[in-house]
Amino acid sequence: QVRDLDMAFPAGSARGQPVLLHVLHKLSFDIGPGETLGLVGESGSGKSTTGRILVGLTEPTGGSVKLFGRSITGPGRRASLAAVRARLQFVFQDPHAALDPRLRVGHSIAEPIDIAGTHSRRERNDRVRELLELVGLPRDSADRFPHEFSGGQRQRIVIARALALAPDFVVCDEPVSALDVSMQAQIINLLMDLQQRMGLSYLFIAHDLAVVRAVAQRVAVMYAGTIVESARREALYAQPQHPYTRALLDAVPRPDPGRARPPVVGGEVPSLLAPPAGCRFHTRCPHVMARCRSEVPLLRETAPGRQTACHLLDGAPPA
Ligand code: SF4
Ligand code: MG
Repeated sequence: QVRDLDMAFPAGSARGQPVLLHVLHKLSFDIGPGETLGLVGESGSGKSTTGRILVGLTEPTGGSVKLFGRSITGPGRRASLAAVRARLQFVFQDPHAALDPRLRVGHSIAEPIDIAGTHSRRERNDRVRELLELVGLPRDSADRFPHEFSGGQRQRIVIARALALAPDFVVCDEPVSALDVSMQAQIINLLMDLQQRMGLSYLFIAHDLAVVRAVAQRVAVMYAGTIVESARREALYAQPQHPYTRALLDAVPRPDPGRARPPVVGGEVPSLLAPPAGCRFHTRCPHVMARCRSEVPLLRETAPGRQTACHLLDGAPPA
């Protein structure tokens, strides 16, 4: 349960005043047991920072995060993190960087088990082979080195390691972005299969809406450190409400090469050192109105289970 999450990094000073980089601004969302929330936005929108905060790697500067009923923000942070750490895991984008090339694969997979110190040698080795099988790799992969595997196989190894201690919640930060398209589908299918079998919850981070469509029950769209729209998958793809969501959907490549290239979002992501006043998207929005330049649109419920932050929807009847 995430409420009003804020994150600001010190970024030097100007005229004697400290300058802060506000990467997250008042983020709120929930992820239920066995559920996947897709978090989508351009690079620099704050997705990875959000993921890092949710597994306890980064401490936010404001707001609250509760995991399994325990607050990992505020005074009890350390004790709560110690209590829930084994239930949290993180899968990063780049399987090359995530594995130590000098370590045998079995050693890498067993790392969380070795740190936890909960298994005998025999149990540990059995568990490694069981994990390899779980992610669709031969049991004897344990004795080989990362360079002997393809990118997709390496991501399977990374996933096996993430599952070593049977977590309940896994942050997947662009887990397929570094893979080619056919590999992407295989890894996504694996992640969904594992979710079914183990009852996992995911925060699934991606920079485009195409990948998330396959995995997430709910989707939150981020722009410049804020959530601009969140909805159930079907509703979001069928009827996107926020102009930024619509632009992202138009930017999804179409399979038909004969069609004209759809419009992409024009302009650039604004600087978080001096985010635009009012609606942060107003510098790129095709529907910008006078009030958008000064009044911040609040994220509000536009239909049951559906929230959008845009002045165009003010006063609109629920869909
Ligand atoms: Fe566009 Fe205004 Fe809506 Fe922002 S609030 S997305 S600028 S119409
Ligand atoms: Mg990122």
